[in-house]
Amino acid sequence: MIFLDAAATTPVRREVLEAMWPYLTGEFGNPSSHHSLGDAAASALAGARAAAAKALGCRPGEVIFTSGGTEADNLAVKGIALARRAADPGLDRVVISAVEHPAVEESARYLERVHGFAVDVVPVDAFGRVTEEALAAVLGPETALVSIMYANNEVGTVQPVARLAALARARGIPFHTDAVQAAGWLPLDTAALGVDALSISGHKLGAPKGNGALFVKGRIRLEPVIHGGGQERGRRSGTENVAGAVALATALTLARTSRPESAARIAALRDDFIRAVLAEVPGAVLTGHPSQRLPSVASFCFPGTSGESVLLELERQGVICSSGSACAAGSDEPSPVLRAMGIDAEVAQTAVRFSFDSTITPAQLHEAAAAVRTAVGSVRALGQR
Ligand code: PLP
Repeated sequence: MIFLDAAATTPVRREVLEAMWPYLTGEFGNPSSHHSLGDAAASALAGARAAAAKALGCRPGEVIFTSGGTEADNLAVKGIALARRAADPGLDRVVISAVEHPAVEESARYLERVHGFAVDVVPVDAFGRVTEEALAAVLGPETALVSIMYANNEVGTVQPVARLAALARARGIPFHTDAVQAAGWLPLDTAALGVDALSISGHKLGAPKGNGALFVKGRIRLEPVIHGGGQERGRRSGTENVAGAVALATALTLARTSRPESAARIAALRDDFIRAVLAEVPGAVLTGHPSQRLPSVASFCFPGTSGESVLLELERQGVICSSGSACAAGSDEPSPVLRAMGIDAEVAQTAVRFSFDSTITPAQLHEAAAAVRTAVGSVRALGQR
């Protein structure tokens, strides 16, 4: 099997499993307990927070551990917007891009539906990029928050986050970015990016599913979304997932050290794969930005097919990939991300995303490109639309 669906999830790395193991077994304490087992857990949690902060270029107190990317996005979007409006009732608009993950989009829609906010959606260009002009056009004195992702999960397009964040900062508006897909591949220094909040998720990085983190700059007020015992300095209640935090911090540290080498190497393999698919599959269209894209994502439309049929055919040939985001798998609706990029609904139904981690080999991608040619050819021949 050739696994080309790493943007959906990744296996747990051995180093990560070994780092978390003690906190699932002998050192199983609750970090809030006042005894030696609790103290050991609290110190493991503090160590994980310090390591995560180092990877994110922030202070340990600015890292909030969550149950994943979805919760981190919910906390950022709802938490910052609600806290800002509580301080100033005139701040009742949130800005998101047209290509956000549902974790951001649905959080904004919740603010609209339940709390009376207005949502301003910034359009993207044909490559899925938000331009500075497009963002500037929607910012106003009532904007409570801007949330624009670092890299897109369906087409891999990377946003000019530092420049977009600077625009918001110049107007005193907090800027959040969903870095769930970017975290393994792009620099995560929150100070250099100039962002006020940034979400990450463990399972895209070789840590287990169900853990993530939100960086929130110290001066930004945050209304909690989960209420309870006041853990995470009152910003996220619930007994901390100590082993999960250790896993996330270990995965982040590994990603930070290997990134410069692996990002360049994998980007070159990605480009070879894209060239091979475009050359060998008649009518194939690359989606997303040709160069400003994640090293790990190659996404296409294959007009005259159905993406789902191509996936099935590819799986028969031992290649596992997806039609877009794992969250939307099985949905009959064409991808809103592709629609926002101006791709018509019929062509958007033919989308296939290939995403890999740093263990992929040139031989595997060579084999996968040949499988794509065969799969698309047989779907077209059978008229499986
Ligand atoms: N944001 C993006 C861009 C994602 O790709 C995902 C997961 O696919 C999420 C958020 C949600 O993260 P999690 O699966 O940890 O809840």
